[in-house]
Amino acid sequence: MPSAPPPVALSGRLAVPIDIDLLAASVRFDPVSQVAEVSARLELRLPGPAGCPVFDLRQPIDEAALDGTLLPPDALGYCDMGAGEDARMRVVDVACSGGSAHQLELRYRLGTPEAPGALPIGWSPGGVSWDLLMSDLEPGRYLEMWFPANLCHDTLRIELDVEVVGTDRPHVLLANGAVDENRPGAQWSVRYPRRYTSLSPLLALVPADEVEVRHCRTEAAGKQLGVKVAALAGTAGDLDAVTADTSAWLSYFAARYGRFNGSDFLAVLWGAPRGMEYDGATTTCAPALEHEVFHSWFGRGVKPACASDGWIDEAMASWATASRRAATGRFQAEELGLDEEPSLLYPPHPWSRHTPREAYGAGSRLLSGLAYMAGGAAQLRSALAAWFKAYGGGAASTQDLARHLESWCGRDLGPWWDRYVYGEDGTAG
Ligand SMILES: [Zn+2]
Repeated sequence: MPSAPPPVALSGRLAVPIDIDLLAASVRFDPVSQVAEVSARLELRLPGPAGCPVFDLRQPIDEAALDGTLLPPDALGYCDMGAGEDARMRVVDVACSGGSAHQLELRYRLGTPEAPGALPIGWSPGGVSWDLLMSDLEPGRYLEMWFPANLCHDTLRIELDVEVVGTDRPHVLLANGAVDENRPGAQWSVRYPRRYTSLSPLLALVPADEVEVRHCRTEAAGKQLGVKVAALAGTAGDLDAVTADTSAWLSYFAARYGRFNGSDFLAVLWGAPRGMEYDGATTTCAPALEHEVFHSWFGRGVKPACASDGWIDEAMASWATASRRAATGRFQAEELGLDEEPSLLYPPHPWSRHTPREAYGAGSRLLSGLAYMAGGAAQLRSALAAWFKAYGGGAASTQDLARHLESWCGRDLGPWWDRYVYGEDGTAG
C-alpha cells in the first residue's frame, strides 16, 4: 500500500501530509523574453490530523492564495522534515482542521529547479526546449521541480495547459497522457491518467525542427499497443531500428511478465548517456532502452509505495536487463551468504526521498542471491511476473517484496533484508 510519512512537529506547528486530488496548471513560454509563467492550482485534503499542510515546489513563489486568501510567499517556506536539507518540503503556515479540503493557488516563473542535478529550460531563437527531466537519485526531482506536488505515494489528477507565444516556430509536445493540440505547434492541453503520482508524468516540449518522430503498432501478449519514438537533435543511430527494438522489448516483457498497463508507449531519445522511466514511457539514450522499457513493468507498472522503496525497481532492472551498472551479469543466480559487505538500499527516514546508487550494484547482487535461493533465474523471473500480477497498476513496499519472495525462496528472508537492504552489519547492540 502507498504510504504517507507521519506528521512532524516543527517549532510549535504540526506539519501534516496532504492528499492532492488535482493539480491544474498552465505554463506560458515566451522565447523572446525567455520567461515561462505558471499559474497552478491544487485541490487538496488533510487525510489525518489538524495541522499545517505540507507540499513541495522547487521554484520561487511570487503569489500564493489558500482558499482565496492571499498569503505572503514566506508563509510557504521550506522546512527540513528531518531527512536533510535536500529533502526539505514547503509547509503552509496556516492551521487547517483534520479532514478539511482546500484550494492552493500559486503563481511563479519557472527557473532552474532548486534540486540537485536539475537543468534549466533551454531557450533558442524563437524556441524553447523543456523536459520534466525527473530523477530517482536525488530528492526534489519529481513533479515538484516544476509544479506544486506531493511525495510519490499520492495518486492525483494532473491537468497541464502549455502554450508557446510570440514565435512562429512550431513546437512538438510529447507526453504520456492524452494530448489535445488546441493551436497547432503552439498550444496543448495534457490530461494524465488518474493513477499517476508525482513520478509518473513525462512531458517534453521541443521546437519541431529539432525532433523526428516515428509511430508504429505492436502486439504485446495479445494486446495492440501504439508505440511512439521521438529522437531529439543530437541522438545518434537509426530511428527505425530503435523503434523496432522498442516494439520488441514491449512484446517480450508483456509475454514474460504480464500485460502492459495502458495502450501506448512513448520513448524520447536523446544523445546524453542517461535514461529515466515514467509510466509507459521513457526519456533515454539507445543503450539504456531495454532497462527503461523494463521499468514500465517494474518501477512505473508496480510503483514504489514510498520513495525509499525505489531501490526495488533498480535492483530488478539491473538484474534482468543488460544494465551496465549491475554487479553481476543479466539473470545471475549466485549463492549469497550473510558474510558479504552490508548495503543500505532503503533510506530509513520516513521523509527520505531518494534511491541510493547502491540500488543498482548491491541490489542486483541481492537478486542474484535470491535467484539462487529460488532455484534459478527462471524461477526468480516467474516470481517477478507474479509480483507484477499482484501489484501492477498499484504500489508495493520493501516489506511486500520480502513477503512475496519468501514463498519463492522457501525461507525467512529477514536476515538478508537486515543486512543487504537495511544495511545492518549485525554488530549493533
Ligand atoms: Zn533504472
